[in-house]
Amino acid sequence: MGRIVYFDFAAAAILVILLFSIFFRRMYRGRVNGIFIILLFVILLNTVCDILSTRELSFISDPSARNSFRIVISTFYFIFRISEGPLYFLFIAFLTGSWNRLKTHRILGIIFLLPFIACLVLMILNMIFHNVFYYTGDGEYHRAGMVAVLYAAGAFYLLCAFILLLRKSKMLDTEKFIALLSMFVLQILAIAIQLFYPDYLLEMFSMAIMGMLVTNIVLRPEENVDFTTGARSYNAFTKDMQQILLSEQPVSIIFVRLKNNSSLNSLLGNEPYQELLRRISGYMDSNPTDVLTQRPGREVYYMYAGLYAIVIEGRNIEPHVKFEAEKLLRTLQEPFNINQLDLDLDVAVGTVRCPEDISKWDDLITFANTFDRVTPEAEVTNYLTIAPDKQFRLAAEIDNIIGKAIANNSFVMYYQPIYSVKEKAFTTAEALIRLIDDKEGMVSPGLFIPAAEKNGTIHKIGDFVIQDVCRFIEENNLSKLGLHFIEVNLSTVQCMRNTVVDRIGQCLSSHHVDPSNINLEVTETASNFVHDTVRTTIFSLHSLGLNFALDDYGTGYSNLQRVVDMPFNAIKLDKRFVDEWEHPRMRSVIQNTIRMIKDLGEEIVVEGVETKEAAEWFASQGCDYIQGFYYARPMPEKEFLHFLMNQ
Ligand code: C2E
Ligand code: MG
Ligand code: MG
Repeated sequence: MGRIVYFDFAAAAILVILLFSIFFRRMYRGRVNGIFIILLFVILLNTVCDILSTRELSFISDPSARNSFRIVISTFYFIFRISEGPLYFLFIAFLTGSWNRLKTHRILGIIFLLPFIACLVLMILNMIFHNVFYYTGDGEYHRAGMVAVLYAAGAFYLLCAFILLLRKSKMLDTEKFIALLSMFVLQILAIAIQLFYPDYLLEMFSMAIMGMLVTNIVLRPEENVDFTTGARSYNAFTKDMQQILLSEQPVSIIFVRLKNNSSLNSLLGNEPYQELLRRISGYMDSNPTDVLTQRPGREVYYMYAGLYAIVIEGRNIEPHVKFEAEKLLRTLQEPFNINQLDLDLDVAVGTVRCPEDISKWDDLITFANTFDRVTPEAEVTNYLTIAPDKQFRLAAEIDNIIGKAIANNSFVMYYQPIYSVKEKAFTTAEALIRLIDDKEGMVSPGLFIPAAEKNGTIHKIGDFVIQDVCRFIEENNLSKLGLHFIEVNLSTVQCMRNTVVDRIGQCLSSHHVDPSNINLEVTETASNFVHDTVRTTIFSLHSLGLNFALDDYGTGYSNLQRVVDMPFNAIKLDKRFVDEWEHPRMRSVIQNTIRMIKDLGEEIVVEGVETKEAAEWFASQGCDYIQGFYYARPMPEKEFLHFLMNQ
């Protein structure tokens, strides 16, 4: 029976499709993917050699030339076959972050390479001694005794990879571990079948199936690539960095944040904004300093909300990292031309070394999220320079600070009067919580509210807020103060607790507060209004008689279309609109937004107004209420009462 070559054809087809799809899905970035692509190429070439070795090769008329060609093909077949084990081993080493440890063991490295080198030498010697394989004059292929050495070397590499995989299994999800294990199972199965049915060329087919499993389960592009920018995704950053931190692999990270990300988004609109993000990541990818580009372990990630990270592997590379970071900052500070607009990107660049400076994931994320708040303008911030900074220390310590504040009841409510354009008086006010820490002093809610939402203490804080505001309303007659209602912020995380409606209801009735005296402000983030519990809570509170306003409209997530069916009476334009109101393009964005909100029959509050000019302009554009430092800052209860009585 002739050799059954169809499996090889199928393998070649699968491999070609896989390689194409890898390139189309932009999966070629990064060392892990790089080594896997090389492995797939080698398997493909191996398959081609396998196919050619079974052909008649009748196009070569001279029998001795035909034989020489066959020898070359079979030699390459073995060389490729022998390379697959070490490549797979390297792939697992990169994937599990163990490469860094391994590469420092020189002797181990040499021992590791020895079998491979021995096989290469053997293949060369085979040309003379025919001790691995040979062809008889009639073109018949025969194996010789030394072929066993090649099999032994192959088994050695598979065993090494298998041991490494078992030892690092903790670092992999179950499905990925199983997909990686398939290499061994499929190989053993194919070799076993081929032993009994030598004519079935199954080995390459089993490798192609392994390639398919690993590409789709282990490399999973949809998880690791940010499709807007083409950079690696936040998800990939989380996984890669956790692995790097666990394996104590030395890396430097350059974080780049677009500080005016949201206003750029509002100003440009979605498409050009995405184009901008793409161009920045393209620049980071292609234009780093020469020294760093040549490093294989350099990855660009797009995390979220205008935050990028470049992770560079290596020890003692600080001067290069500093140079690259400064170059990036300088370049991104130059006006960026997009959609015929010369944009000023407000960028902050921060660098940090892991694990020397930061060895914990939470601290790394804290740094990524806060370095730009404490960055001196036009300078690269190094972690070490801001580590002692109060803001940064607060961010790192925030969970403890909140815990302590809850235990000691050290929250107070401040009130910021809001000016009614129509009534020419302060008719409402926003209640804003303050945390007073005995060591740190006043801590901003911008810092502790998001942390409380994450650690679950927001519910306790929310209970305090509503209690204290109800007490204030009970103790003071709002209408005598000229107020219609108080605005209270309600985080959508609070709306996810199903008892929130009863708690607020009970609080109102125990303090004899009319629900219409409270207006709840909620902020739309990317998906929270899609959440059923959030919607149900908002509608239930509304049916109790409480009114709602949509807070922070224009921060990049909000979309009026998505909230038209929600019971909002007012929309609050975010401060970012105010920051850019003098920009002609932004003016037209604001005017259109105002028109749209008016068409929906809702009132407009503009917040963050700091100057007379802005207050007058927004009033002239039809805004109903104005809130901002221009009129009054948030103030403690007593001062607030005093303010109202003297207005
Ligand atoms: P927010 O609800 O959008 O509140 C408006 C913020 O803008 C307040 O910051 C206010 O002090 C500030 N602000 C008002 N006018 C101006 C201005 O002219 N210039 C500037 N630079 N800022 C101005 P604050 O008090 O730091 O609160 C920050 C955020 O924390 C609030 O944003 C809200 O999301 C959250 N927050 C505050 N209090 C509470 C609360 O009781 N419960 C909940 N869930 N969140 C709260
Ligand atoms: Mg608010
Ligand atoms: Mg707001």
